This record gives sequence, C-alpha cells and structure tokens, in this order.
Amino acid sequence: MTPIHIIGGGMAGSEAAWQAANADVRVVLHEMRPVRGTFAHQTEGLAELVCSNSFRSDDAETNAVGLLHEEMRRAGSLIMAMGDTHQVPAGGALAVDREAFSQAVTAALENHPNIEIVREEITGLPPEDWDSVIVATGPLTSQALAEAVHAATEEGELAFFDAIAPILYADSINMDVAWKQSRYDKGETEEDKAAYINCPMDKDQYEAFVDALLAAEKTEFKEWEKDTPYFDACLPIEVMAERGRETLRHGPMKPRGLTNAHDPETKPYAVVQLRQDNTLGTLFNMVGFQTKMKYGAQADVFKMIPGLENASFARLGGIHRNTFLHSPKLLDDLMRLKARPALRFAGQITGVEGYVESASMGLLAGRFAAAEKLGQAVTPPPPTTALGALLTHITTGHVPGKKGAFQPMNVNFGLFPDIEAPTKDAEGKRLKGKDKSVAKKRAMSARALSDCDAWLNGISQAAE
Ligand code: FAD
Repeated sequence: MTPIHIIGGGMAGSEAAWQAANADVRVVLHEMRPVRGTFAHQTEGLAELVCSNSFRSDDAETNAVGLLHEEMRRAGSLIMAMGDTHQVPAGGALAVDREAFSQAVTAALENHPNIEIVREEITGLPPEDWDSVIVATGPLTSQALAEAVHAATEEGELAFFDAIAPILYADSINMDVAWKQSRYDKGETEEDKAAYINCPMDKDQYEAFVDALLAAEKTEFKEWEKDTPYFDACLPIEVMAERGRETLRHGPMKPRGLTNAHDPETKPYAVVQLRQDNTLGTLFNMVGFQTKMKYGAQADVFKMIPGLENASFARLGGIHRNTFLHSPKLLDDLMRLKARPALRFAGQITGVEGYVESASMGLLAGRFAAAEKLGQAVTPPPPTTALGALLTHITTGHVPGKKGAFQPMNVNFGLFPDIEAPTKDAEGKRLKGKDKSVAKKRAMSARALSDCDAWLNGISQAAE
C-alpha cells in the first residue's frame, strides 16, 4: 500500500501522522525545519508551540476547548497525551513545558514503526503519484507552497494578523512587588492556586503605561497588509489601548479576583499576569501581551510594569500575517480539496484557530485519510461533538446567528446545534442568567461526549 504523505510536522501534521500510523497505514511526514525555518518557530522539534504555552481551559463540562481536549483524549490523541504528561501549573488551564512537550511528540513519531520523517521543504503541489496527501503547513506555510496552493485553488486568500507575547526570565522578576496567585484562587492544588505571577499597577502607573504604549514605535505594516483585519482574540495590546484607555483594564490587565499579597488592603487598579512557561519554572510569559511594538520599545515599555523594572527577556513579542483557505468553498465535508481530492488540508490553514483546534483537525484528517487507504467507510464525527462542530465550521462556514465572510474560529459553544437544557435547578428553582447558560453548556458537553463515544465505538466496530 502506498503511504499517506503529510506536509508539515506542526500541531496538525504531528497528530495526523500519529492517527494514521496507529490505524496501520504507512506515513511519510515532510517537515521543512531545520532546512528552512519560519519567523516564529525556534527549534527543529515537531509540534513546536510558537507563542503561548497554554492549551487553555481543561474544563470538559462547561468549556468548549476543555470538551475538545476530552474528545481528543478519547480518540487517542498524541498531542493531548504529551500535553498531559508535560503540563505545568496553570490554574484551571492546561499549560505545558513547551520544550519537553515538543521533544516527546518528536520522539513518539520518530519511534513509530509506520512513520518516516523527511526534513525537506515541499515547494510546490505534490506529485500526482502521491495519492493521499495531508497539507498541514499552518499559518506560516512557506511562500513557494502557499503560492502553488493559491494558484491551484484560484481563490482569493483571506488573512488576519497573529501576534506573539513576550517571555521573560523568572529570576529577573522583582517578587518584593509581584506575588503568586491564580485569579479567584482557582485550581485544585496549592501550586495551581498560586500558578500566576501578578504585577500590580495603581491608577497613575496604569495611565503612564497606556501613554507609553500609544507613543511607542510600532512595526510598520507593508502596503498589502494594510487592509487585513485583526483576529479579535489576538489583538496586540497597543491596538487595544488605541480602542480606549480602559480597554486593557477590562481585558488582559483586569485586576478582578486578585489580592496583592504585599498590600492586601489596596486594590490594584490593573494587573499584568505572567504564566509559567517551562517545567523548571525559569521562564514566564506575559499573558495576553501580544504586541507589534519594535523590540527596543518593548523592553522600555515593559520595564515600566511594577516588578519588571529589571526584567530580562528570553523572547520579545512579534506580529505577522496569517493566511488561511476559504475552506467552506474549497474543501468537501471530509476536508479534501474539491478540485483535487487526493489533497486534504488540516490545521490552522483550514480556518480553525488555536493549537488544540489545529491538532484536532489533524486528528480527523489522519483518521479520514487512513480509513480511505484501508477501504473503510469514512465517518465524520457528529456536529453535536466539539470535533464535529469545528469540522462543520470549516466545511460549511456555518456559525449559527452570525452572518458574513468565513472567519477563523476557536472552538466555542456557538458552533454546536442548540439543545433543550434544564430550566430549573435541583431544588426546582428557575435558572437565570449565568446559571442558565452554565446548565446549557453542561447539557451540550454531556451530549457531545456521549455522541463522541458512539462515533468512536462505531468506527472501531466497523473496522473489526
Ligand atoms: P504549525 O504548528 O505552524 O505547523 C506547520 C508546520 O509546517 C511547521 O512545522 C512548518 O515548519 C511546516 N511547514 C510549513 N511550510 C512547509 C513546507 N512547504 N514544507 C514542509 N513543511 C512546511 N495558537 C494558540 O492556541 N495559542 C497561541 O498563543 C498562538 N500563537 C500564535 C502565534 C503565531 C505567531 C502564530 C503564527 C500562530 C499562533 N497560534 C496560536 C495559532 C495556531 O494555533 C498555531 O499556529 C498552531 O501551531 C497551528 O497548527 P498547525 O499544525 O496548523 O501549524
């Protein structure tokens, strides 16, 4: 049997390779690093996390990405297994030691008997004799391949900006000013409850900081980038500041749920949170602090943050243009290019957003491609599951209640079909507001996990 060729060993390509190889199909994984790099990747490891080290909430009962984690675990995901193994404290979130995580994914794929890894850039459309290909080259797809795909699809590409938050050395943080605490003391263990480092600001410090942000030198956009919209969940802090002086205080710098351990009586006006970035706890990233300030300006402005006066940065923030396909038009319901069904796409390039979402689309692409090779029926997950809801989004662009152009999307309950949820609590009291919405999320999650199990069981029975 000819192998499945997977182009790109990032979040989606690594998961796709694992799923297909475990179905007993041969896989050749083509990854261009270290032969050719991208501006964001820093290593030659597979599944490198290019910015934050967080897989976000791990709550499978009331959070859509936590639910996606759980469905992926049930489907035997390599990304989730290695994420769980290499997690670092992060309150209710799943954050990982990025280096250990990437090394573990790389080792698992290198040691798999059905996988061959080739370090090369694929510079054009794959040869016709590759009869099953998964393109998982991500938001930083190399120029040559992007142009070839663009020409083959004859479709105007869409784009938005993504930005990287800075990482700094823990021992350069002044803990006489900063303190450790998770928002609302969230977390099961004492370590989780103190997972974040918090830097407090009073009103004057906040105002001065906003002024400095607005005045700082920014990276100029190129002419062709000027009409590109930002993805709202990834706004640079200076763009937030431009939208209103209070915006940051209601966004990444909100002080809610935090008490300054050095001065419990004084409520901070704003707080900058830092999240552990590696197992050793020697690196912390600035939560939600993606920026397009020039490097020199970043160091100056961030040192205005109390506790970071002497901060030393392991990596500064950055911004780039992100390209993705108009998938609802170009791909069929099993993620194949309608114009050339031997080519399947997966990951961020299909219009999902986020590490876990990208990996989840790799999980599906790997399974679909393997089933096709083995002559088995290819069954997509039902749209009531997180996996199915995302697949429906990229293949139909369907966002209930939203009109307009196809936009990349994190997984969210708005993508799921509606459900009749309980209207009363256990004591028979009518549910209102937040309680009502939590009850609905719980109902959607329970339905999703049950439907996901049925889908997975159906596949394994059909394969017997
Ligand atoms: P990637 O993980 O980027 O993998 C693609 C792989 O393909 C890379 O290894 C690349 O080297 C390789 N490749 C590219 N072209 C070729 C070629 N022609 N031949 C062979 N190999 C090739 N998501 C989050 O959840 N949190 C974040 O904080 C976050 N920050 C981001 C910051 C930046 C700068 C970017 C670009 C994206 C960010 N994302 C973030 C979004 C997204 O989740 C990640 O980019 C994710 O890694 C996408 O997974 P992927 O598998 O689609 O692509």
